[in-house]
Amino acid sequence: MADKSRNISIVVVGGSYAGAVAAKKLADLSKKGYSGLKVTLVDEKSHYFHAVGFPKALVDAKYAEKAFLPFASFFENDSPHQFVNSRLKLITDAHHLELENGQQLYYDYLLLATGGKAPGPINVSATSKDGGLAEIDQLRVGLQDANSILVIGGGAVGVEVAGFVAATFPQKKVTLVHSGKRLLPTNFREGVSNGAVAKLGQLDVDVVLNERVELPDDFGHSAQIGHKVLRGTSGTEYPSDVQILAVGFKVNSAFLEPLEAKIGSLLHIEDGPGFIRVRPTLQLDSDSFPNIFVAGDANDLPMTAKYGFKAEMQGGTAAANIKKLIDTEFDKSFSESRDDVVVPALGKWSDMVDAIMVPIGPDLGVAQMLKVALGCSGIANFLVRQIKSKDFMLWMRKGYYPNKQQTNDE
Ligand SMILES: Cc1cc2nc3c(=O)[nH]c(=O)nc-3n(C[C@H](O)[C@H](O)[C@H](O)COP(=O)(O)OP(=O)(O)OC[C@H]3O[C@@H](n4cnc5c(N)ncnc54)[C@H](O)[C@@H]3O)c2cc1C
Repeated sequence: MADKSRNISIVVVGGSYAGAVAAKKLADLSKKGYSGLKVTLVDEKSHYFHAVGFPKALVDAKYAEKAFLPFASFFENDSPHQFVNSRLKLITDAHHLELENGQQLYYDYLLLATGGKAPGPINVSATSKDGGLAEIDQLRVGLQDANSILVIGGGAVGVEVAGFVAATFPQKKVTLVHSGKRLLPTNFREGVSNGAVAKLGQLDVDVVLNERVELPDDFGHSAQIGHKVLRGTSGTEYPSDVQILAVGFKVNSAFLEPLEAKIGSLLHIEDGPGFIRVRPTLQLDSDSFPNIFVAGDANDLPMTAKYGFKAEMQGGTAAANIKKLIDTEFDKSFSESRDDVVVPALGKWSDMVDAIMVPIGPDLGVAQMLKVALGCSGIANFLVRQIKSKDFMLWMRKGYYPNKQQTNDE
């Protein structure tokens, strides 16, 4: 029988989708007899920002205000768990890490849920609520003053942003340029892509497919308000007053350097977004660090897994695996001796759900559930409106912040 009351330190870095689910599930164990268990949630941001609702936050200041939830309210007041508002700087070894505020933390188990960063203003980059709101406000004012808006990238985010901008500012010219031959990720049915083109058309959005916009090297976050003429690979010019980049994102893995130096090989992929390598159990891909997990956008699972709801599912898998290790007292053997450490068999994450729901302005939308495509139909509009467009499922996220007093005070 495992000694449930022993001291166990779990650090979860990143409290957004993957991290929130895992931290919550692991923290709940302390109510189930794991009396020495302590979860430390670390995030460089003071507030969770509901990125899923960004298309609405962009055009609705009241909603934007509500889309920030304070991490300080994440754990109940009387719980043994804590939130630390700082940035993970380095994972120094298999049991220690260093934060940017100088704090050193010990961990028996570590979950990295650090996600990725979008290059353009389709998510907030500021670490405070005020800073994040200022970023969104600046872009909203830019949109109000603009005559023409260019959205680059026709994945779900680009389609949603183009739809909400066009529905809010019907008198402005909105153009969506996409490098692919159809909108939305191609693992979804063609009917969904066609429906998106048709419904954007209803809002007078010009959709240009098979065209890659050439971006100057210095095209940064703040450089996207102001008149510019960008050129596509076809030679067509796209003049616009605001440019919204909805393509590409980068994963930070610099904090892995000490571990990589120790084992003499990279734990992340150098090309592309720089994803962190994991095993199907979501453990870091190395025999040396069986107690470190990576869930969500940061890991190298296929792009079809890069969704908030799948990040949450991965957070659940990682938490279940950490619990399994705790129940076999793996942390005890791992901290005492390196030679006879046997890692128990753990659950594997498998991507079984294929679903997408894309609001196109407040009234229209397309969706696919399992294999059923809802593209051009009115049923799609109805479903997307009922389930997503109203508040982009922000209500579900509020359930993660039980410390209501503090949440309401914000
Ligand atoms: C505009 C937009 C709309 C989207 N719409 C949808 C949608 O409708 N449905 C859907 O399923 N998905 C959607 N997504 C995708 C979804 O948001 C991501 O898949 C999801 O955010 C990934 O979650 P995550 O927990 O892996 O990482 P993230 O959400 O990226 O969170 C990472 C967290 O880690 C913190 N962090 C990062 N590095 C450090 C560090 N070094 N130290 C401390 N803290 C750190 C960050 O501050 C952040 O809180 C959308 C994305 C965007 C940008």
